[in-house]
Amino acid sequence: MTQNPVFRARAEIDLAALRANVRALRARAPRAALMAVVKSDAYGHGMVPCAKAALAAGAEWLGTATPEEALGLRAAGIGGRVMCWLWTPGGPWREAVEADLDVSVSGMWALREVTRAAEEAGRPARVQLKADTGLGRNGCQPADWAELVAAARAAEEAGTVRVTGLWSHFACADEPGHPSIAAQLAVFKDLVAYAEKEGIEPEVRHIANSPATLTLPESHFDLVRTGIAVYGISPSPELGTSADFGLRPVMTLKASVALVKRVPAGHGVSYGHHYVTGGETTLGLVPVGYADGIPRHASGRGPVLVGGEWRRVAGRVAMDQFVVDLGPEGDSVEEGAEAVLFGPGDRGEPTAQDWAEAADTIAYEIVTRIGARVPRVHL
Ligand code: PLP
Repeated sequence: MTQNPVFRARAEIDLAALRANVRALRARAPRAALMAVVKSDAYGHGMVPCAKAALAAGAEWLGTATPEEALGLRAAGIGGRVMCWLWTPGGPWREAVEADLDVSVSGMWALREVTRAAEEAGRPARVQLKADTGLGRNGCQPADWAELVAAARAAEEAGTVRVTGLWSHFACADEPGHPSIAAQLAVFKDLVAYAEKEGIEPEVRHIANSPATLTLPESHFDLVRTGIAVYGISPSPELGTSADFGLRPVMTLKASVALVKRVPAGHGVSYGHHYVTGGETTLGLVPVGYADGIPRHASGRGPVLVGGEWRRVAGRVAMDQFVVDLGPEGDSVEEGAEAVLFGPGDRGEPTAQDWAEAADTIAYEIVTRIGARVPRVHL
């Protein structure tokens, strides 16, 4: 396929920034190992190149949600420690055991399935027992922990399982001082102590995500699991900006202006005519839409840097395109001009956080939802 030098849209991924972010995170958690969380295509940044860059910068572990993602890392030739945590009955346990993945187990059904897979594979499975210490999502309830620990110990004795980790996940680590943080830490310590008293010898105990890694040293234990911060985005504007944490956003989303045209006053723009020009003006067509992950909810609000100035989405974001009002002087902008939707922010462009505010969501969602139709260009 010939590549047009003027592209429709692309997401530039600054792998040097990603590597620097990993180093900055390691410095924040100097006594813990670092897991780079690369699920959901590395939060939209491209799983395999980001995984390799994170490992090159010193991450010891990679983490994914689904086993298929983790197996994808192995298929790309990536060795080392890889953990995956979102299992459903009938999942690819045998492939996971054979690929030496660390698999998370939150309940008895999963322990039974992984034990059977280990018997079939003829080798022990690396299992990390997950506790629900208060998130109220995945993980074993504290009331069921003793049963799970006993069964895991029995499987260890039988040689089918090696419990490599004990772990959990925070509910409100992005809200410093939230009482659930201390409560979850206390429950986690109790559950770890219980498992160790019963003879489990985990290599790693871990609970910290990005916000906890950045703000709660007492939560680091043996390993921190950082996702959003690896991609240079602050977990929450209330905690601080990326720059406050020495992080640099990795993704820059650009498009090329596809059409520039003069229109008179009173011209309705895009579906529903929610924007009507106030005077004669110039409209620019930006050829990305909600099929590319641009939130329709940012209609009328999403910011774009075009011709050196911030413009707002005029009217509705459509499936493949939206319009910006370039103003009465805007015909100096030509077709093919660069439209920067978001990037690190230090070249005058908006950030993913600006889009999150425009769309009433979080920056995690902005980068993760950029669609497969937008090529990722790893720099
Ligand atoms: N650990 C688990 C279990 C997760 O689900 C996630 C992401 O949601 C992370 C770690 C990484 O979280 P963050 O991106 O806030 O660092």
